[in-house]
Amino acid sequence: MTVPRFWREQPQRYRLLGAECNNCGGIYFPPRTVCPECRRESIGKMVQRQLSGRGTVLAHTVVHQPADGFELQVPYVMAIVELEEGCRVMAQVVDVVPGSVGTGLPVEMTFRRIREDGRNGVIYYGYKFRPMRHTTLDKRVANSIASPKPSSTPPRSPAGSRPRRS
Ligand SMILES: [Zn+2]
Repeated sequence: MTVPRFWREQPQRYRLLGAECNNCGGIYFPPRTVCPECRRESIGKMVQRQLSGRGTVLAHTVVHQPADGFELQVPYVMAIVELEEGCRVMAQVVDVVPGSVGTGLPVEMTFRRIREDGRNGVIYYGYKFRPMRHTTLDKRVANSIASPKPSSTPPRSPAGSRPRRS
C-alpha cells in the first residue's frame, strides 16, 4: 500500500528524527550522515536523535500562491522554526491568523494533513507547527515546580546480598 510505504520511506516526516554528531554535539535536521563541522571526524559517530518538536519562529512568510495540493489552505504561513535543540526546520504554521505570527512565537509540532493526491485519493500526513498552548506551558512550569530533585540516591542492597531474614 502506498501510505505505509510512504511512512516507512519518510520517517523524519512524521517523527521529526534528526541526527546528532557525537564528536561536536551538533544536531541536524533533516538527519545527515556526516557532520558538516567535523566531516571525517564524524564518520561513524552520527546517531539518530528524536527532536522535541518545540521551538520558536525565526522568520515567516504568508503564502498566497499555493503549491500543488495546497489550494484549499491559502493564505497559509510558512516559517523557519528554530527547535530547542538548535537546528532549524521549515514548516507550515497552523491554527493561527496569518498576520499574528511573529518572530519569537513559541510553537510546537503537530501532525496534520500535508497534501492530498487527487488521482489516487492518498492523503499524506506529517508535521506542522502550531502556537504552543498555554496549557502546555503551564503544565511544563507546574512539572518543574512540583517535581523536587531527588535529594540522594536511596540505599540499595547489593543484588547478591544475603536475605535479611535468616
Ligand atoms: Zn560534529
